Amino acid sequence: MCNFSHKQKYDMIFSLLENHNDLFANSIPLIASENVTSPAVREVMLSDFANRYAEGWPGERVYAGCKYIDEVELECMELAKKLYGAEFADVRAISGVVANLVIYSAFTSPGDIMMCMPISVGGHISHGKKEYHGTAGLVHGLGIESFPFDKDNMNIDIDKTINKIKKLENNKIPKLAMFGGSLFLFPHPVKEISDILKEYNIHINYDAAHVAGLIAGKQFQDPLKEGADTMTMSTHKTLFGPQGGLVLSHNKYGENIKKATFPGMTSNHHIHHMAAKAITFIEALEFGQSYAKDIINNAKTLAETLNELGFNVLGEKNGFTKSHQIVIDVTKYSDGGKAEVELERSNIIVNRQLIPGDIKAGRNYFNPGGIRLGVSEITRLGMKKSEMKQIAEFIKSVIINKKEPTKILNKIKLFRNNFQTVRYCFDNKTKAYEYVKVK
Ligand SMILES: *Cc1c(COP(=O)(O)O)cnc(C)c1O
Repeated sequence: MCNFSHKQKYDMIFSLLENHNDLFANSIPLIASENVTSPAVREVMLSDFANRYAEGWPGERVYAGCKYIDEVELECMELAKKLYGAEFADVRAISGVVANLVIYSAFTSPGDIMMCMPISVGGHISHGKKEYHGTAGLVHGLGIESFPFDKDNMNIDIDKTINKIKKLENNKIPKLAMFGGSLFLFPHPVKEISDILKEYNIHINYDAAHVAGLIAGKQFQDPLKEGADTMTMSTHKTLFGPQGGLVLSHNKYGENIKKATFPGMTSNHHIHHMAAKAITFIEALEFGQSYAKDIINNAKTLAETLNELGFNVLGEKNGFTKSHQIVIDVTKYSDGGKAEVELERSNIIVNRQLIPGDIKAGRNYFNPGGIRLGVSEITRLGMKKSEMKQIAEFIKSVIINKKEPTKILNKIKLFRNNFQTVRYCFDNKTKAYEYVKVK
């Protein structure tokens, strides 16, 4: 790009953005951590809130000019509490990782131990050890103990976890237990394990980054009622909002969370994202239940069809999935890295996934044994049962039949034609991937 003028580079960036939107309008987007926002959320993101600061709590700001921001933020907190049945909400965390950092800072000290899912079976890097550059270890100096994992059930092993806690030496007793993860097929046993955790005075956080939209739609589990003290999440995965974070809790933890969030973890809390969260919470209150039901039905149909077509879909013992995710072991045909690349060549966007057993088999994050699919975005575009079956066929033709991926590109573009607007929202004048020109 070095011989181009500034204006040419400027134009080039805009054309790359338009190309990107066009790519997604013609793809099957199956990244489990992604979604598409409503036109209303996109409008909020373009507002002048994007240019402002409002440090502190509404009514106690250290900036002027916050009159309307305060009103929106107070409403945003009320909506979050209503949506999740929580006593306290802090809507300022700017991402799911920052929300977790708020919990680490509010309820542990460096050197303490956290018990969580290992990354090799679906834990998130923000729960990770320092030696893997995981946030918990690297940023807050936490030591990690793993929840024992049951591969057949694809879930935390309840009995082994209870025994493990009973047998830990005193200096290894965790201060914090972290439920939730990034490979997340079935509700975690919060109710079953919370009694023993409480006996040992272990703070319980539930990381709902992936499943926040399913919890909001009352189709997953209700962590705060099952024993979790606090709950963190991203606001943009199954919950279909702007990129951001959210921390919820019972009242007694509110002050700690407030201080850890500001001044601890944020200065500017991205006010436009905060307002967009408020709109998202309203959309979830109004449309969230049917949306979450449709997601879970779609995931089940896609998983069952892939299984019928010959794929090794994990979690069979429990019906493959009770969330938005499906995980396939592709080692019979290829590896997760290669499958991701081949599918992308046909505009099917998925991501490679470490699955239980990979590390022992010498596989790593670059060539893991699995791929992970999520149906949140295609559900929000209005796809249902027959589309799930068609998508399974597309995936089969690329991975099992080894068809040249670019040969089905046209079919996929055609298939996408009828699904260009966002559902489960009040207004949809602008198409899902329409490039909006303001300048
Ligand atoms: C995605 C994810 C996060 C991180 O969220 P960001 O909003 O990307 O910072 C945290 N925890 C889990 C379990 C996740 O899957």
